[in-house]
Amino acid sequence: MNQQVIPLVQISFSDEELDSIKRVIGSGNLVYGQVSKQLEEDFCSYIGSSFSHLVNSGTSALIVALKALDIGFGDEVIVPAFSYIATANVVELVGAKPIFIDIELEDFNISVNKIEQAITPKTKAIIAVHEFGQPANIEAIAQIAKNHNLKLIEDAACGLGSYFNNKHVGNFGDIGTISFHPRKAITSGDGGLVVTNIENLSKKIALLLNHGQERIAGKISFEIPGFNFRITEFQSQMLKIQLKRFLTDLEKKQDIARIFLRDFEKIRFITLPKIYENRKHSWQSFHILLSPEFDRDLIIQKLKEKGVQSSLGAQCIPSENFYSKKYKYDIQESFPNSFYANKQGLVIPIFGDLTFENIKYVSDCLIRSLDE
Ligand SMILES: *Cc1c(COP(=O)(O)O)cnc(C)c1O
Repeated sequence: MNQQVIPLVQISFSDEELDSIKRVIGSGNLVYGQVSKQLEEDFCSYIGSSFSHLVNSGTSALIVALKALDIGFGDEVIVPAFSYIATANVVELVGAKPIFIDIELEDFNISVNKIEQAITPKTKAIIAVHEFGQPANIEAIAQIAKNHNLKLIEDAACGLGSYFNNKHVGNFGDIGTISFHPRKAITSGDGGLVVTNIENLSKKIALLLNHGQERIAGKISFEIPGFNFRITEFQSQMLKIQLKRFLTDLEKKQDIARIFLRDFEKIRFITLPKIYENRKHSWQSFHILLSPEFDRDLIIQKLKEKGVQSSLGAQCIPSENFYSKKYKYDIQESFPNSFYANKQGLVIPIFGDLTFENIKYVSDCLIRSLDE
């Protein structure tokens, strides 16, 4: 077993599935077309959104969301300090200023009670992240956005299969975005999805991701400057295949999470992800906190030696070079939880095909690594 590496996530395709992808490539229809359009409808039904648009990455999805909401120069956008770096980069890239808020260590999501004090006359939007697939307290955030007339974008990059009060994430704000990077629930290599329930936004998103191009009376017309953020047909076919298996995988991941939660319950060095009655965690990642006496990177090394892949969870974005140089934050003062989660956080393997034997091996190795 030691020779074999258990990866954080693993995706496999059957021969039949690979044949179906080959057929799409062989058809010669490569850019956005029928397969993608059908898949968008499938996503609308699954997520329960009125409109959905496939794009070429989760980052592109966020850029399109900000542009569709006219967020740009002079605007401030509230974002969590602990997330994947893209959540903040997109704000910089449209010319706006990210205003970082610390997170809660219970759900690794934005501290809802710190949002209002960060709102200024320049604040235009909030980006709420559902980190690791654990839904943020999104109804409370949506209420704050409404009270202050702010736009709400849900960065649900990790949130496919995550629900808050039985409603799929991505449906609580103006726009929701999902990623199909290989580390996420289903993957097209790179890829993403933008969802909304607002028709005008859907129209603008469609223009923005495809050169601003529209067909008016059968004639192509360019209405606004747009990107080329289109997905390809063979990527859509990859996603279509996985979306079929996704529900089974989601349930398997719930089972795996339950085993980990039980195995680690009595280990006092580990803080486990919190389970909420009204939130369904999709377990994009199983993220734990190691108590401060451990050197997390050393534990990652020890697990690697045992053949188990693990990694830190997410960035404390204000500490990353670009942001710390530009804005010179006092990290310990302003973002203690984000700093701590970045330093002591650990994600361990979780995916649908993980065997019972390997689940046990992973939890065994982690417990032994903390003991050595
Ligand atoms: C993965 C991720 C992204 C970026 O998605 P890509 O598809 O890799 O561009 C953005 N935000 C969060 C929270 C993510 O986890």
